[in-house]
Amino acid sequence: MDFRGKTVIVTGAGKGIGREIVRMLVERGALVVALTRSAADVEALREESGCRAIQVDLADADATREAVIAALPADFLVNCAGTTELQPFLETTVEAFDRLVAVNTRAPMIVAQEYARSLIKEGRKGAIVNVSSVASFVGIPDHAAYCASKGGLDGLTRVMAKELAPHGIRANGVHPTVTLTPMAVKAWSDPEKAAGMMKRIPVGRFAEPADIAEVVLFLLSDQAAMVNGISMPVDGGYMIA
Ligand code: NDP
Repeated sequence: MDFRGKTVIVTGAGKGIGREIVRMLVERGALVVALTRSAADVEALREESGCRAIQVDLADADATREAVIAALPADFLVNCAGTTELQPFLETTVEAFDRLVAVNTRAPMIVAQEYARSLIKEGRKGAIVNVSSVASFVGIPDHAAYCASKGGLDGLTRVMAKELAPHGIRANGVHPTVTLTPMAVKAWSDPEKAAGMMKRIPVGRFAEPADIAEVVLFLLSDQAAMVNGISMPVDGGYMIA
């Protein structure tokens, strides 16, 4: 997959899966515009990957819109930023629920709106990949707000796929299982829970960020020109187990 001459916006580019997507895109010739929160990651992305990096808190709707407008124009978009907080359903707070939906669901909508508006105005084609989770397909204990926020994101992906494809813009979802990143440390550091999850993954391991990044790049590329509106698990078979 050759991304020479292409500009790609990647949110959540500072760590984990987003950071690996940036690395792979840059290796394959893309110019990346990274949107992420920590100042240290912004600096590191500029220095290590030579990408444009914009610091933004995606929980802030106005700041998010401003940041994506500053990032445009772009050929492709990856909505990868995500966050989680572990709370049993009965103890899920309104504040945590709103925080997760703001970052995991509302921000991808805002970013994709501005990206698509810009392409449609210029009469250019493009592709969007929204990084969801297997948590949008199944109920995972202590992840009520997270599961809901990713389910909402899938709904947006499907509507984008229908409304934007006539303009030449495809939209697809990628659904990782547990992937070895800082988020996984937060969500799966309880060995008992992690072992239970691992048992349900027929390939017998958790994912590496590169496993997810390869699929994201494929869905962005012209090789996936007829793939639109799918929810693609990258889960070692978790969903069939
Ligand atoms: P990490 O926590 O390792 O990295 C997330 C990145 O998103 C960080 O750079 C973080 O920046 C950024 N981010 C989070 N919140 C905000 C915010 N409010 N504003 C701007 N940037 C923000 O997560 P992963 O790499 O593991 O996850 C990437 C995506 O994959 C997420 O959407 C996640 O839900 C999904 N996923 C992950 C799985 C896993 O097991 N790791 C499994 C299934 C799906 P900062 O650190 O500065 O806050």
